[in-house]
Amino acid sequence: MPSKKNHLAVVIATMGCSITTLSFAQGMGMGGNEPEREITNVTGDLYRFRQIRHIGMFLVTTDGIIVIDPTNPELAAWLKEQLDERFGLPVKYVIYSHSHNDHAGGGDVFADTATFIGHENMRENLQRPADDAPLLPREQLWDANGDGMIQESEADGSAVTAFAQLDVNGNGSLTRAEIWAARFGGPTVRPPDLYYSNHAVITLGGKKVELHYTGRNHTDDMTVVLFPAERTIYTVDFLTPNRPARTVLDGGYLPDWVESLRRVEALDFDIIVPGHESPGTKAQVSEQARYMEDLYTAVSAGIAAGRNEEELVETILLEDYSHLIEYEYSRAGNVAGAYEMLMSTPGEH
Ligand SMILES: [Zn+2]
Repeated sequence: MPSKKNHLAVVIATMGCSITTLSFAQGMGMGGNEPEREITNVTGDLYRFRQIRHIGMFLVTTDGIIVIDPTNPELAAWLKEQLDERFGLPVKYVIYSHSHNDHAGGGDVFADTATFIGHENMRENLQRPADDAPLLPREQLWDANGDGMIQESEADGSAVTAFAQLDVNGNGSLTRAEIWAARFGGPTVRPPDLYYSNHAVITLGGKKVELHYTGRNHTDDMTVVLFPAERTIYTVDFLTPNRPARTVLDGGYLPDWVESLRRVEALDFDIIVPGHESPGTKAQVSEQARYMEDLYTAVSAGIAAGRNEEELVETILLEDYSHLIEYEYSRAGNVAGAYEMLMSTPGEH
């Protein structure tokens, strides 16, 4: 049975909580002087926009603007004002990186001029599960009493605040639908008008944006956005340069995640813009792929040797990656997360 500590990490994290504020401050070089919101040029007519620790992008063309991840209603409203003032051009496309509501929220302010595009798996992910929907296989690992819900005692004693926020009907038990609602969809997320499956190209004002599906990683509906002329990709939550990915926090898929990173390596670009932290380089994709592969290999071997989750968290140290931001926090969570993913996916270990 997984440890209570790890239940806590998962349940808190489904809320997109503020644990990562510290790393953001470090990664962004914030010393209290950074504005709450800002727009930063990446190269040419390509920009990042940020509020606190969340980052989206936009590309300006003569025929209008392409926005990637409106993020949330407050930031999207601010961005619209800024775009009107600075460029006087309409937003013609909104592209979603994935369906998590802390990146996909707020698009309604662009709805009168824009077409919204996302990966086809967003369609199902944006549907609220039925109130009696079964827990996902991984969630069933936490359900010690087997009642199909997660009680506070199955989460963690110190997760009271987070648990109460997730438990919107206040009955002391989290259903699949309540866990889903903390992370996916909801009233702030405007569904895509168009869905693509593997690859799509948008052209506007003589400029091009490519959408690449590289398989399952942080979610199963993730789009890597490639700006070919700017030699830049946007990878939101699943590839953060210089910081380990977070499997336990955001669910995720192994070993698919490793393969997805290898497919990103095969794309032609120089700059990575993540949805958190600072931009990075292509060499950091290779480092992430090695990290995830080493994690997968070590956890698989540990499971085959009959070790439990706590033993793996104590013994799989991945010291080659100790220079990465929040290494220790991410390592422990990722070993636990990888264990849970593999234990709830028959045939993967
Ligand atoms: Zn996400």
